[in-house]
Amino acid sequence: MEGLFILLFVICLIAVIIGLISPNVVVRWGTQEEKTRKNVLKYYGIGMLLFFVLTGVFSGNSDQNIEQDKHVPSGITAEKATDNKDQSVAMVISKIEALGDINAITLEQSEDVKAVRAAYELLDSEQKSFVTNLTSLNWAEEKLVSLQAERDKEAAVQAQAKAEQELAIQQAAAEKQESAELETVQVQDNYTVYITETGEKYHRDGCQYLRQSKISVSKSDAINLGKTPCSRCNP
Ligand SMILES: [Zn+2]
Repeated sequence: MEGLFILLFVICLIAVIIGLISPNVVVRWGTQEEKTRKNVLKYYGIGMLLFFVLTGVFSGNSDQNIEQDKHVPSGITAEKATDNKDQSVAMVISKIEALGDINAITLEQSEDVKAVRAAYELLDSEQKSFVTNLTSLNWAEEKLVSLQAERDKEAAVQAQAKAEQELAIQQAAAEKQESAELETVQVQDNYTVYITETGEKYHRDGCQYLRQSKISVSKSDAINLGKTPCSRCNP
């Protein structure tokens, strides 16, 4: 627009110059009396002035536009935002890289992987599309899940083994106690008692009923022979 007014201004200027030399050339209307230098100045001078002002107004406007652009640094902000966005993406990418060889990942890196995933989820969908090594992160997560499952399984097996071991210890202890009790009973039953040839009782040594005869046997043997304890000496 500005260019057009400059052009028209120049045309008017040329017309004025030519018109001052020869008014007939530029004033092509009206009677011969009207084709004067005064009219040349009147028409083309006004035109010049008009276009000069218009040129000024329009160039002023565009200056103002430029000025406005400077005052509203939306472009710069957007650029900065883009930089920040790029940095976030680059950070996520480098964090994924920092996880190292995914095949060699260990459960100790679980927290790191979680942190990377959290950082990734903070990105917007456009940024996410720029994370070129996302598959590594996904893979790391899958790998950790299977590692955790293995560890849980191992722990379960160990727990079961431990439980079985404890049960075995308890059983052994119970058996030991049982055999000890049995032994005690046997020991108890194995002390020597005395029977007589005809009597149905067995006796302690020194019982008055042993005056006739006195045969020493173990208590268990006496019981096996069908003898019962004497009520007097209470063997
Ligand atoms: Zn007796």
